[in-house]
Amino acid sequence: MKKTATDVLPAEGGLGNDPLLSVEDLHVEFATRAGLVKAVNGVSYTLSAGETLAVLGESGSGKSVTAQAIMGILDMPPARIPKGAIRFQGTDLLKLSEEARTQIRGRRIAMIFQDALSALNPVFTVGWQIGEMFRVHQGMSKRDAEKKAVELMDRVRIPAAKQRVHDFPHQFSGGMRQRIMIAMSIALDPEVLIADEPTTALDVTVQAQIMELLAELQRESNMGLILITHDLGVVADVADKIAVMYGGRIVENAPVHDIYRRPAHPYTKGLLESIPRVDLKGQDLYAIKGLPPNLLDMPTGCAFHPRCPYRQDNCVTSVPELYEIDPNRSSACHYWREVLDGTDE
Ligand code: SF4
Repeated sequence: MKKTATDVLPAEGGLGNDPLLSVEDLHVEFATRAGLVKAVNGVSYTLSAGETLAVLGESGSGKSVTAQAIMGILDMPPARIPKGAIRFQGTDLLKLSEEARTQIRGRRIAMIFQDALSALNPVFTVGWQIGEMFRVHQGMSKRDAEKKAVELMDRVRIPAAKQRVHDFPHQFSGGMRQRIMIAMSIALDPEVLIADEPTTALDVTVQAQIMELLAELQRESNMGLILITHDLGVVADVADKIAVMYGGRIVENAPVHDIYRRPAHPYTKGLLESIPRVDLKGQDLYAIKGLPPNLLDMPTGCAFHPRCPYRQDNCVTSVPELYEIDPNRSSACHYWREVLDGTDE
């Protein structure tokens, strides 16, 4: 039975040795007319305070669905969570009432979405929209909420914040709008911030600035940060560890330097080789052959086998478990040793 909100919310400031957030054997499926889509199949990861986890994968890999499950914003139905736990400071969010989750969502676990223009309301000033966080959640007066909005706009480095607080979203560039979204998401000092493809629509220079801003904000507040991206190139300088997802599963888990130095899964290796490099100017960019799997008709055995240059006969029939390589890293590849050995250091 679902518990009531007030007596089960996790204590603020943490509980003993529990990680800030842990996703445990999470399964999410969607009932569609075409059949059951198993979007997330046994995903587990942890996040500590002050840590940045990058969750990487192509579209349909299950990375955003996992984040939506953490936020509690999946439409249920058609979505269903048949198995798993999402513990926030030890409390399983999946067992809380909707009322309790509303108290956590946005306030203690916040999310930045990829499309700032559609996430912001075009008919209200940005100051009003940032201030809403304080008016609604903290009962602040309009005047005080506007002051807070200016402070936050300063904090996310929007120039001339005092003047621009009365501007509308369309009067800002894409990068500045994303800063406004970030300001809204950190307004209530969340303990966990999830950024879902926060730089996708931005040019490379602005991408780097937004990543730098997120890293700075994280250092200032010690929050846990989950960065969801399809682009391994943008997280190298900010992530502590990376979980690579493919076909609804984690296929490689490792500290960031291990992933870049010596990937242990052919998919990760392919993603790394697809990053444009200045020293290889003029050469064709590597691309992983084939397409991501159809979740309604998953390949047998290892889901990556139709695209994998390391494939052996047993890959077609046997699903690889997540093999532990060392206490901090794992790979869901039967031939992870060969992949490691075949990587130049
Ligand atoms: Fe490739 Fe086989 Fe490893 Fe899958 S298990 S990634 S098909 S080598």
